[in-house]
This record gives sequence, C-alpha cells and structure tokens, in this order.
Amino acid sequence: MTTPPELTRGVRPEVDRRVNLLDFDLEGLAAYCESLGEKRFRATQLFRWIHQRGAREFGQMSDLAKSLRAKLEARACIEGLTVLSQQESADGTIKWLFDVGGGNAVESVYIPEDDRATLCVSSQAGCAVGCRFCSTGHQGFARNLTTGEIVAQLWFAEHFLRARLATTERVISNVVMMGMGEPLQNYSALVPALRVMLDDHGYGLSRRRLTVSTSGVVPMMDRLGQDCPVALAVSLHAPADVLRDNLVPLNRKYPLAELLDACRRYLAFAPRDFITFEYCMLDGVNDQPEHAAQLVALLRGHGGGVSCKVNLIPFNPFPASGLTRSPHQRVLAFAKQLSDAGIVTTVRKTRGDDIDAACGQLAGDVRDRTRVDSRIARQRTVMLTPVHDTAITDNERTQ
Ligand code: SF4
Repeated sequence: MTTPPELTRGVRPEVDRRVNLLDFDLEGLAAYCESLGEKRFRATQLFRWIHQRGAREFGQMSDLAKSLRAKLEARACIEGLTVLSQQESADGTIKWLFDVGGGNAVESVYIPEDDRATLCVSSQAGCAVGCRFCSTGHQGFARNLTTGEIVAQLWFAEHFLRARLATTERVISNVVMMGMGEPLQNYSALVPALRVMLDDHGYGLSRRRLTVSTSGVVPMMDRLGQDCPVALAVSLHAPADVLRDNLVPLNRKYPLAELLDACRRYLAFAPRDFITFEYCMLDGVNDQPEHAAQLVALLRGHGGGVSCKVNLIPFNPFPASGLTRSPHQRVLAFAKQLSDAGIVTTVRKTRGDDIDAACGQLAGDVRDRTRVDSRIARQRTVMLTPVHDTAITDNERTQ
C-alpha cells in the first residue's frame, strides 16, 4: 500500500467554507455564475477547465476574466478528496481509499480492460441495506456522500491516469455506481453527479456506459427513469422472496414482483434494451439447479418476462459473512441452465482480488451508526434453515 505524495497535491485539508464547484452540474454552475453577476455561458468555460482539464486553481483558467477569477478565489474552491492509500493489483486494477472526513473513508476501483476502462464509484460512506454477502453492508452506514464527493472520485482518477499515461485523451470510458453504498438511497446527490459524468463539457460518457446498480429501491428506480435514464443493474442474488429477504433485506420492503415491475417500467426509458441482474454465487445457498430453474421462471414468467442479462458473480469471501464461494463447476452449470433457457448469462471475471478490490469486497472505513452487526447476525441465524426447504417454500410463494 502506497500513498504517493503527489496524489494529494492541490487538496486543501482544512475545513473550507467556500462553495465547492465539484458539487455542481452544468446547470447548477450556470445558476451559481448568475448569482455572482456573471453570464451563464461562463459556467461552460469553468466546467470545462475543472472536468476536462482537471484544473484545481482558478489562476490556471487563462481565458476567464481576471475579475471573475478574483470573485471565485474569494468565494469558491475546487475541493477534491484526500487520497489515504493507493493499491495496485498485478492485473492493473487500482484501488483508492479516499478520506471523506469524520473518520470515514470510501473506495473507488479502476479496472482496465482491452476495450474499455471502468471506474467503480462509491455513493455513500457505508451502506444501510446490509446485504449479507457484501463487505460494505457489514460495515454499516455513516452518511451519504455529496455530489462533489461522488464526482471527485472520477475527477481524481481520470486526471491521475491521464498524467500517468501522458495523454490528454479521455482514459475512463465507463463508470459503474457499484462501489460502497446504495446509490438510489442518495438520490439527490447522485443525479447531479450523473449529469456531470454525462455532460459533453464534463466527462462525455454515453448513457449506455454509465450504470447505476441498485438493490431495488423501487420508487427511485421510477424517478431515475424520468430524471436521468442511464444503464441499470439490479442486485438480485436470489430467485424468490424468502431467500432474498435474507440476503438483501430491502426485499422485505420491495419484494421481487414489485422489483420486476419496476424493471419493466424502467426499460421504457433505459439506454440499453435490457436490465443487468447481478447474482452473487453463494455455495449451497442460491446456487442449486432448483434456484436456476426458479430464476428462469421469475425472469421469463413474471408478467411476461423482463428483457435482461444475468451476470453471475463469484463470491469473494470474507470471514464475517459466514458464506463461501460456489465451486467453479457449479457456477458454469448454473450459467448453462440459464443460457439453455434463452437468458443471456455471463460469469464475471474477478479482478483485483489481491488488493481486495473485487466485487463485494469494498469496505473503506466507516463509523457505523446503524448497529448493522447485530442485524446481520440475526439474519445469519435465519439462514441456518436448510437451503432446500427455503427454496421449496419460495417456489410455492412465487407460483
Ligand atoms: S450489495 Fe450494495 S446495497 Fe447491498 S450492502 Fe453492499 S453496497 Fe449496500
């Protein structure tokens, strides 16, 4: 683990009461410029300096009038996050731990591939959903990130990578809101952050290359479809309610039938013509042939089916979960059962395991305010019920 000194350069550690311009999408920045008595179009110049050129100081912005720079200097700042650590995997994956104050820290992961480069971004310090198989869920919840804190992860990573690769071209081609937190439980900060990422004067990502992953906050899925329809991934992880109630506690509030109806409604707005369902493969828990059969019935049957792709994720074990990874052969058999039923299915490659950057492993550092440990311990007790009994009960319930 290293913390290169240049990583924190330009970040002001002291509490700063000035307006942080990373908190604004372009519309918000235009309104802010107007409040300073400036023309709205100045916001576009400013926005491009910040996001496209990675400027940290107003003095760098040579095409802005000196009077405007002076006003900004007095009232505003461009406040990134302090990097606490940077870890690099043998496969090129990089994980950063960012300080968000109050003893909390969040993680972002850069995943380079042949045809794309993805940044996995956090939306909350911790998470209140408390999924059993997720390290973040076991950390509990401290607070929502601000728009600026969400954007700052991309802002930092993009410009760090450009400097390292000595390029002025865009490096990060895809962003997935799949880091720490349930993004749709931080909706008001999330949407402006997505708009910054999509904006041609910002990062210029296409809607298809920007994915929000949710555990199923149904009302907010509907709002996202209206406000900012980007690609959607849903953390499914179980084919029936009794099992999903246990693995993804939010299911008790928004059970599968409601969730799949929301997915169908979202498809009317989505930039892709499918929803991605994430399914973490847990040994002896959700990985049996009967679970695959239930999943096919759920995705094909319910209200006419949902246009979808299923992404099977090898579980990354951590001791507190009490869960283990499904054997690879079982994952392949599960995938075949879905594929044979006509469901497009992929098995996620694990990346960055040597630095705990793989899916479900992000834990950051969270001052828990939700007493999540005792909650998850109770769920774990319920899980001691034999898997097959649960499956049969679930099956009956979904008929
Ligand atoms: S899987 Fe997502 S929603 Fe569930 S606890 Fe982890 S971060 Fe929260």
